[in-house]
Amino acid sequence: MAIFGNEHRLVIVGAGFCGATIAYKVASELDLPVLVLDRRGHVGGNSYSKFDDETGIEYHQYGSHLFHTSNEAVWKFITQFSPFNNYRHRVFSRHRGKTYTIPINLMTINQFFGTDFDPAGARAFIAQQAAAENIEAPRNFEEKAVSQIGRPLYEAFIKGYTAKQWATDPAALPAEIISRLPVRFGFNDFYFGDLYEGLPTAGYSAIFDKMLGHPKIKVVTGCDYFDVRGTIDPQVLSVYTGPLDRYFDYKFGELGWRTLDFEIERLDVEDFQGAAVVNYADIDVPFTRIHEFKHLHPERRHGNKTLIMREYSRFARRADEPYYPIGRQDDKRRYSQYKKLAEAETNVIFAGRLGTYRYLDMHQAIGAALNLYEKKVAPLLTGRGIRSDEPESDDLQRQSSPSLVPAKNAGVDEVTELRPRARSDR
Ligand code: FAD
Ligand code: UDP
Repeated sequence: MAIFGNEHRLVIVGAGFCGATIAYKVASELDLPVLVLDRRGHVGGNSYSKFDDETGIEYHQYGSHLFHTSNEAVWKFITQFSPFNNYRHRVFSRHRGKTYTIPINLMTINQFFGTDFDPAGARAFIAQQAAAENIEAPRNFEEKAVSQIGRPLYEAFIKGYTAKQWATDPAALPAEIISRLPVRFGFNDFYFGDLYEGLPTAGYSAIFDKMLGHPKIKVVTGCDYFDVRGTIDPQVLSVYTGPLDRYFDYKFGELGWRTLDFEIERLDVEDFQGAAVVNYADIDVPFTRIHEFKHLHPERRHGNKTLIMREYSRFARRADEPYYPIGRQDDKRRYSQYKKLAEAETNVIFAGRLGTYRYLDMHQAIGAALNLYEKKVAPLLTGRGIRSDEPESDDLQRQSSPSLVPAKNAGVDEVTELRPRARSDR
């Protein structure tokens, strides 16, 4: 029984940035009807935001989502749906009753060690600390971090935070995760180093309403794909952006995911913490960070109240929302088993953060979706087929290594590499 009708030429599971980008491209460029399903009661995936009735503040239901990219095509694509403000993200870290700037920079180093180094002095000092443990070929997150910043800074700002955030001993985590976070020997304390950065002035949901509001797109929320799968014509092409292990009914066991719990509080103070995000580095504080969303939109007039959100992290069980792929050794082994099945599946393309078990930022999810549209979805839908001389290395199914964690300011191309790019500011 075709409960959604037979007219659609593409079914997309998941209305996050990956699914919405592909849906919009197919509808607007190929003029073909698309069906988008999402099991949540809203579109937008993890990038969903809404305006709070009581305070009027827009908050991101799944944690602060900062948009940043150096990819012209992605920036051009996203800004057609909304203007962006000029917010640039700064993060602070609380450690033993004091507040420091993060990523670690010259100010953090001098404040923490009580020194007054210039950039060259700080670099030499940290190099000395890093060399103290003689780690030549770091094998995991902890070794990599210590070999870059030395043990004292690692123990203060990284160890406890990471253990809380990943619910995993840092020595069992892939080294690549720390590559997301730069270390700087100047006073630059911006969190990202991309060419473009900002927040959509009308909110993320306005972007999704525009992308998915195209007349050729039909969206059904509150609908789990696995409840309706049997009613969908298997001849119709699907793009699946849900969890890879769930698709195959956990045949090889569960991939390791980290889930989050969010606790919202409305306060009768104008400014709770003076910044959008403050991290809590110490292991004895149960939450990892506090978001205060009004700071993301300096262009808006906000009242005397504020809304904050504490973020707690834990290992995901099956019933939990999977947010972050952990990527330990056994996850990598399982992932390659699932990947083989995914490649053998006909008429289904696996995509997005969950479908490819990859730590993708929004710009990377959009960039990869644009690539996938060009290289695979459009050729298949228009009967052109995928030309054998066309490189497939940019599509999401080929992004095989779950250990790949793109650097914070990596562009789309970096996502397709099998190892992270060395950062210029390291
Ligand atoms: P998602 O947004 O996760 O969308 C997948 C969708 O699939 C979901 O809506 C889900 O409900 C749906 N789905 C799953 N299974 C089914 C099913 N069986 N049936 C129907 N629907 C299904 N990126 C940044 O660039 N900057 C940030 O600051 C940033 N911060 C983040 C903070 C947190 C806490 C998290 C978790 C992520 C953050 N990200 C950030 C990453 C960003 O959320 C992702 O890049 C983006 O969501 C990826 O889009 P996606 O479409 O691949 O996946
Ligand atoms: N990290 C840390 N301390 C911090 C911020 C980050 O130890 O104050 C580590 C942590 O392991 C985290 C990684 O650096 O997972 C990448 O940080 P990022 O802010 O990119 O994490 P995300 O925004 O994806 O949650």
